Amino acid sequence: SDLTAKILGRIRDVPDYPSPGIVFKDITPLLGDHVTFAAVVDALADELDVDTVVGIEARGFILAAPVAYQAGAGFVPVRKKGKLPAAVLEESYDLEYGSAVIEVHRDAFAPGERVLIVDDVLATGGTARAAVDLVGRAGAEVVAVSVLMELGFLKGRDRLTGVDVRSLVVV
Ligand code: 5GP
Repeated sequence: SDLTAKILGRIRDVPDYPSPGIVFKDITPLLGDHVTFAAVVDALADELDVDTVVGIEARGFILAAPVAYQAGAGFVPVRKKGKLPAAVLEESYDLEYGSAVIEVHRDAFAPGERVLIVDDVLATGGTARAAVDLVGRAGAEVVAVSVLMELGFLKGRDRLTGVDVRSLVVV
């Protein structure tokens, strides 16, 4: 579609970032183009009836906050360990080398609240899986995970069975 072409035309491949052999999808050209940025926010917010939009640090914040505004929903940050000031729940997940921890405030959600999780890129699915589990443990219901771009060859979707995973483009 028109939006797909606009998105693909404004995501830049950066070879060997953050480490040799990795091709990083850089979304900063897209964010800098107000027409495409707005269309992406509208598409991510599309037709979903949610109470809260969760953004995953850090690029997820940039997309999730305007999606929350557009959807008439609140915004909740899921952050890397040690960044949130009040009492947290934490979730660990495996990386290629080592592991990572994400956190959310314990009191971020009312029981059964309907939540949309937003991030920029779905790669191996480890981050999204951990976020889904974390939000569930915090007492909310994950309605969907929406990402700007899915790296289909990494099969992240396979780690999210039972979750409504939506992506604006798949490469
Ligand atoms: P995963 O946990 O699915 O392997 O990686 C997804 C997370 O890492 C997301 O939070 C995303 O922001 C980040 N990420 C992984 N690869 C890329 C990439 O190529 N481009 C961007 N923009 N983010 C990436």
